[in-house]
Amino acid sequence: MKNLLATVVLAATAYAGLSQPVEQLINPTEVSRILGTLSADDMQGRFALRGEGIHKAAAFIAEEFKKAGLQPMAPNSGFLQSFSMYTAVVAQSRTVLDGQSVAPEYIFCQTNQSALKFGPADGYEVVSIGATDNFLQQYRNLRGKSNNVLVLVDTAHRNLLDRIRRQSPPRFAQPGSQVYLLTTNSKPSQWLVDVDLQLTTTTMQNVVGVLPGKTKAQELVLFSGHYDHIGIQKPNEKGDSIYNGANDDASGTTAVILLARYFKALNNNERTLVFVAFTAEEVGGYGSQYFSKQLDPATVMAMFNIEMIGTDSKWGTKSAFITGYEKSDMGKLLEKNLAGTGFQFYPDPYPQQQLFYRSDNATLARLGVPAHTISTSKMDNEPHYHKASDEIGTLDTNNMAEIIKAIALSSRSIVAGADTPTRVSAASLQR
Ligand SMILES: [Zn+2]
Repeated sequence: MKNLLATVVLAATAYAGLSQPVEQLINPTEVSRILGTLSADDMQGRFALRGEGIHKAAAFIAEEFKKAGLQPMAPNSGFLQSFSMYTAVVAQSRTVLDGQSVAPEYIFCQTNQSALKFGPADGYEVVSIGATDNFLQQYRNLRGKSNNVLVLVDTAHRNLLDRIRRQSPPRFAQPGSQVYLLTTNSKPSQWLVDVDLQLTTTTMQNVVGVLPGKTKAQELVLFSGHYDHIGIQKPNEKGDSIYNGANDDASGTTAVILLARYFKALNNNERTLVFVAFTAEEVGGYGSQYFSKQLDPATVMAMFNIEMIGTDSKWGTKSAFITGYEKSDMGKLLEKNLAGTGFQFYPDPYPQQQLFYRSDNATLARLGVPAHTISTSKMDNEPHYHKASDEIGTLDTNNMAEIIKAIALSSRSIVAGADTPTRVSAASLQR
């Protein structure tokens, strides 16, 4: 048994630890450390499709989650939620449509196969996109399909199909292949598609950590930000080619890490808190799309997505805005929790910019989740947006710490399970 004095000293020490104001865990020094690491040149602009920078950033965030005392989402898994994306480029074509051969540059494939060979008897659904049809809308619909489709695209859409073919958007591991042929022949009677594909596999990683809830562990509250940016591009007039993405969105990722540490220290969350750093937001939102399929969206009570909080909002310091404010009553709950704190959240003042649909919250919102983005970005006048000059020196780390605290305070009744925002209805969303 310990002696009495030791017990008293230990108890006093423990008490001192607990009585330290947890909000001091969110401070400008820590903001600078995390933000500075994520936006440093050696992270190479954190491009999700290529390079080492993105993986280095993921490893750093995972280490921060571990230090914060989070748990992986599934037992025995790590903090990295990995998945593969596939890009197929037509290398050779022996394709024939009613006796006419079709060159590789007239073919675009969405597939996870390295070769495709099929004719009319092989059960492919055949879809025609005529000259007056909305090509992009049809393309978006077809992209989600898991069956085999031959898409005959009228040559009127040549430029659009060319652009997509050159971008070669990656896709998830999914069954089915969609093969697009540019042709004036919308009803061929005889055809053979026969192509060899150069298939590239890209590994992508979200970083996910969990703080289990005390009494409502089945109900989840998400805090998220995307950690990818747009990588290395053409040098600007100063010769800088690294797009550091300090504001977009190392700032949101920094918030997620500090919120994790804050809630762990607070140690009273009734709901389970899930902290997510998404990959590939900038190149198609693949990280949040993958994440949204790893859980039941009905269990997600609210999503706080955090984007670009490094500059003062149009109302100055200690204020931020909420995108899609009218789509649930979450904004009102956050405002209620902020009453008397000196912080103010406003509805998004740039509705014409469609910010609600331009970040990862939209993926979850489409599944009904009250999912909003909190930001301070002056979208009509943010001089470093998607520029190489988006560096830590342009950001206000003092205000960032205040905004992160405000997000924590604004979430408290939701974290405590006392308030539940209304769901986002499909009818309130545009496609
Ligand atoms: Zn962003």
